[in-house]
Amino acid sequence: MTPAGVRPASIHISSSQIDAVAAWDEIPLGANLIDAGSDVVMPGVIDTHVHVNEPGRTDWEGFFSATRAAAAGGVTTILDMPLNSIPATTSVDALQTKVSAAHDQCVVNVEYIGGVVPGNVRQLEPLADAGVRAFKCFLTPSGVDEFEHVTEKDLRLAFPVLRRLGLPLMVHAEDPREIREGPSGGSRSYADYLVSRPPSAERSAIALLVELMSEHPARVHVVHLSAAESLGAIREARVRGLPITVETCPHYLTFAAEEIPDGATEYKCAPPIRDVEERDALWAALLDGSIDSIASDHSPCPPSMKETGGDFFAAWGGIASLQLSLSAVWTGAHVRGGTIEQVAEWMCGATARLAGLADRKGRIATGYDADIVVWDPDLSFVVDPAKLLHRHRVTPYAGRTLYGVVRSTFVGGAQVFNSGLHSVNE
Ligand SMILES: [Zn+2]
Repeated sequence: MTPAGVRPASIHISSSQIDAVAAWDEIPLGANLIDAGSDVVMPGVIDTHVHVNEPGRTDWEGFFSATRAAAAGGVTTILDMPLNSIPATTSVDALQTKVSAAHDQCVVNVEYIGGVVPGNVRQLEPLADAGVRAFKCFLTPSGVDEFEHVTEKDLRLAFPVLRRLGLPLMVHAEDPREIREGPSGGSRSYADYLVSRPPSAERSAIALLVELMSEHPARVHVVHLSAAESLGAIREARVRGLPITVETCPHYLTFAAEEIPDGATEYKCAPPIRDVEERDALWAALLDGSIDSIASDHSPCPPSMKETGGDFFAAWGGIASLQLSLSAVWTGAHVRGGTIEQVAEWMCGATARLAGLADRKGRIATGYDADIVVWDPDLSFVVDPAKLLHRHRVTPYAGRTLYGVVRSTFVGGAQVFNSGLHSVNE
């Protein structure tokens, strides 16, 4: 997968970077050759939306298990969300605590996202100076007490600062005024959960963001879009020159509300997985370029928090899919005429630009970091939770057939995952 498309090539690597992309048979004498055969050799996936949860909630997920699951899924860089770790990454002190916790545990690149919460506007510039790649805020309660959601008033303080810093604000865009309470005593009905978080919540939140951007055009990135009806407002804002981008997630592209059994809380996430038409509309928007990127929103928790006797309102909202996202996206893309080039744009190119890494990651080209995934797009597998390297195995993907088997993953030229690629000496 070269910048010019998929073609036969050899990639020369002598350090952590790519020395050259040459003709397929141009192999230097004495080189240690890894023959990928007819597999795809693609830039490693850059997943800009991962909740690692360490320190503080390491029993939910941690750097050791998350980065190994990433490597097995062809992901070479993750951006760690500022919650659900304790402390939340809303100050430089908290960031340093997290960086120390990650030390010596990670087999893929880890970058960090700072939090925007009520009252921490003075922390934004120091966090940017300390190297965070983006900021994140919630417009609706986040699910954990230590990461408070912002109001319009907080955003009016933050936007001018964010505009000056030039980093994107990733926004969980649901308007709390549009979210309805569930039945008293909870509910095992997926339909009840679905109506509690309607598409109008996203539409209203995105309208507020566009209004704020009109005054202070800070970069805004709408995370985990679940409903296509808001794309009209996003397209219009772009036509006006506003720097707004949007992602969706593998679960909105794979599952559909009609197929979710009552009580199956492994499917719970927020915003919710919607119906088949909505899924098709998201795919159409990806294929026509209206949606920029795909990120996993890997957000695990201990199984006990998912298994709530099937009550959708009591269960934790989050789906763990870091290891499966490339295969899940490819499975949906190739039946709809999507190409490997498009998958690479959604999961490597666009996410590298979002994270400010596009000068050295997201392409297989001379001088770029040798972060590479080798995968077979024609081979399928059945998801066996026992083979997932996430800390917990609860997954709505269990038993599903996915296309795209990851053979090997390289980070900075070093092989960090291998299932069946062998090197030979030339
Ligand atoms: Zn998330």
